[in-house]
Amino acid sequence: MSKQKLIIAIDGPGGSGKSTLARGLSSRLGLLYVDTGAMYRALTWKAIRNKIDFTQEKKLSKIAKESHLELKPPETAGGEIKVFIDGRDVTEEIRSPLITNHTSDVAKVSGVRGCMVAHQREIAEHGNAVLEGRDIGTVVFPDADIKFFLKADVEQRAKRRQKELSEKGTEVAVDKIKEDLLKRDDIDSSREDSPLKPAEDAIPIDSSTMSVEEMVETALSHIKKLS
Ligand code: C5P
Repeated sequence: MSKQKLIIAIDGPGGSGKSTLARGLSSRLGLLYVDTGAMYRALTWKAIRNKIDFTQEKKLSKIAKESHLELKPPETAGGEIKVFIDGRDVTEEIRSPLITNHTSDVAKVSGVRGCMVAHQREIAEHGNAVLEGRDIGTVVFPDADIKFFLKADVEQRAKRRQKELSEKGTEVAVDKIKEDLLKRDDIDSSREDSPLKPAEDAIPIDSSTMSVEEMVETALSHIKKLS
C-alpha cells in the first residue's frame, strides 16, 4: 500500500458480517481494528448498572463524557478485542441479549454520539485502521479511503447471531433474534442523529451467501485498486 495512512470504513446492520470482515482485513493488512459498537455497548452496560433510565438523555450524555473507554487489541491474530470501561473488563458482558437489545436506545442520544465520534476519531487518527459501525462512512470518517456497506438477508443474520450466542453458552430462538434485529434496524435507521445508511460512495457487499474468505477477498480486491 503506497499510502501512509489508510482508513477503512465498514457499516451495516447487526449480523451482516461487519466484525468478521473488519477482523479479517485487520489481520491481513495489519490495521488497527476499531469496533465502535463495542463502545456504545459498554456505555449501555454502565447505564444499566447505574440504573439510568434510557429516556434520561442528559444523564446518558454525562456518563459518555465521564467514562474511560478502552479497546485493547487482541492478544492473538484474529482474536477478539478487549473492551474496558473505567478499568473494568466488560468484553463478555456487553454481548448479552440484554445489552444488545438496549444499545440502540443509548446510541440514539446526540450527546452520547458526539463523545463517541470524537473518541473514535482520536483512536484512529494516528494510524492505519479499519472501523466498523453504523456511521463510520457517513459521519466519523466521511473522507475514509474506502467504505464498505454490508447487508445480508435477515434470516442469515439471525442464524449467525444465534450461532455466536450459542458458542458463548446462550441459547435463543432464531425467531426472537430476528424480531430483535429488525427492531434494532428500525431504531438505528430512523434516529435523527447519524442514522444507519450507506454513504453515497460506499461499496455494497451482500454477504448472505458468502464465506468469510469470500467476503475478505472481495473487499481486498477493491482495496488493491487504491494503490
Ligand atoms: O455493531 P453492534 O451490533 O455491536 O452495535 C450495537 C449497537 O450500537 C447498534 O445497534 C447501534 O445502535 C449502535 N451503534 C451505533 N453507531 C455505531 C456502532 C454501533 O449507533 N457506529
